[in-house]
Amino acid sequence: MCGRRRTSSSPHRIDVNLEVRDMALGNLREETEVAIIGGGPGGYVAAIRAADLGKEVVLIEERERMGGVCLIEGCIPSKALINVVELAETARAARKMGLTFGELSFSLDGLRRWSDSIVDTLTKGVDGLLKRRGVEILRGHAHFSDNHTLTVEGAASTTVAFRDCIIATGSDINRLPTGQELPLWTSAEALRIPEVPPRLLVVGGGYIGLEMGLVYAGLGSQVTVVEFFPRLLPGADLDLVEVVVRSCEKRFHQIMIESKVGEIQRGDNGYIVSVEHQGQKHAHEFDQILVAVGRRPNSDKLGLEHTAIRPDKRGFIEVNPCGRTAEDHIYAIGDVTPGPMLAHKASREGKVAAEVIAKHPSAFDSRAIPAVVFTDPELAWTGLTEREAGEQGLTVAVARFPLLASGRARTLGRTEGMVKIISDPESGRILGVGMVGPYVSELIAEGTLAVQLGATVEDVVATIHPHPTVSEAIMEAAEVAAGMPVHINPPKKPEGIARKPVHINPQRKDGGCEGCPNAGT
Ligand code: FAD
Repeated sequence: MCGRRRTSSSPHRIDVNLEVRDMALGNLREETEVAIIGGGPGGYVAAIRAADLGKEVVLIEERERMGGVCLIEGCIPSKALINVVELAETARAARKMGLTFGELSFSLDGLRRWSDSIVDTLTKGVDGLLKRRGVEILRGHAHFSDNHTLTVEGAASTTVAFRDCIIATGSDINRLPTGQELPLWTSAEALRIPEVPPRLLVVGGGYIGLEMGLVYAGLGSQVTVVEFFPRLLPGADLDLVEVVVRSCEKRFHQIMIESKVGEIQRGDNGYIVSVEHQGQKHAHEFDQILVAVGRRPNSDKLGLEHTAIRPDKRGFIEVNPCGRTAEDHIYAIGDVTPGPMLAHKASREGKVAAEVIAKHPSAFDSRAIPAVVFTDPELAWTGLTEREAGEQGLTVAVARFPLLASGRARTLGRTEGMVKIISDPESGRILGVGMVGPYVSELIAEGTLAVQLGATVEDVVATIHPHPTVSEAIMEAAEVAAGMPVHINPPKKPEGIARKPVHINPQRKDGGCEGCPNAGT
């Protein structure tokens, strides 16, 4: 846990010269205990936690609405659209279950209204939460004037003197260096659904590219995905990704890996794009192009040169587990720091930074950060992957349970996929969990808890899971790991770790059941 290393000077000691200068310039001047830059899932959550811990908080946001990329042009609107196209897909698939519909059709206005209404409700909800906590909101772009002062350029120019500051400025979209001004789509534009292009090129086979590609394929576009690397979704294990790729191949027109988008020219009907694969260049025609080639941290235009903080080569601000930067009293959280660019990571880091500022013992634990790809089927993982174990030279036991053997998956008509547990062969401790299949975006929380609490495969085996649910597959995978599978045949060469079953009874030190002849054995 992190404690305070150095007491910073109080912002309440106003520099008289600065005050005179501000008055002359007509600037407003404020003082606060905690200034937070950025109202995304990192910043607004940090503001709420800091205020609840008794701190005076000013939250600075340059957009009109709170919620950041996640609420306004990321997690929430993308999942709203994915839900609709998946509903249509489920309805079509239900034909084989004896349920038929008339022809399904989409209303783009209806879709936009649905997505906007959710975003509106949630951003207003965040405003309400902040207001009730007494968090002061300043609208405008903040930059450091020195290591205890921010200047906020909004309707007026305001100087904010702070004791502690949290940088939660998030990230921005990477653009394609086309050398010309072309109205290519980013994920933000694509989420507004300006149209459904007949032929859509998605540049980038990461999770945003695949999720948005599936939305447009569902709406009727012929989607081509071009990925520079030899595989899609590089963070996840290949055996899990392959299940998603098989499904994407059915929905997409083409997936081109190890391919590079070169020159883009405007044609009579959209764009003519040169795609290079193994040294060969081919021209393809598309009506629209969605660029989803990653994001970069928002650390420029922050005046960091007026502090001791120096971002790394890629623009990330390094922090310690408490979120502290090179300046003890300035913290950084979320997408602007290294690690996965995910909303729940940003929120957890925000809570930690606020708690450390309020002198509570707290630290960020990166052992189990879940990641979810909302494709169809969904893909999720947490903790150590098999690939990472290999890269780190760790010996691990890997156990898989296929959804083909899950009763609930059969009733859903969704048997493609599996649950996979990566554990320590000596202790049985669960180090990582991966899943692909229905509802895994929800189920991965169980794997995360197991990794976080240091549970063993036997702990999961002994945990009663409700039947019939897909969650049973987690228990069944743990049974494979413990060398005692029930609903699949034991592998000839055991996949898991054949250890003696352990009876878990937290009340008893010796294990086993009181009164049984084998108690304590
Ligand atoms: P942000 O959400 O980027 O918020 C930063 C805020 O700071 C912004 O509102 C910005 O206006 C403000 N700001 C920046 N600089 C300044 C300044 N100098 N002065 C004042 N204000 C400033 N993550 C998930 O976990 N799950 C998902 O399913 C998911 N889906 C996504 C889908 C898409 C299409 C995209 C683009 C992203 C998705 N993400 C998802 C990623 C997620 O949105 C980000 O990881 C998350 O928003 C990061 O939170 P943050 O608080 O660090 O920054």
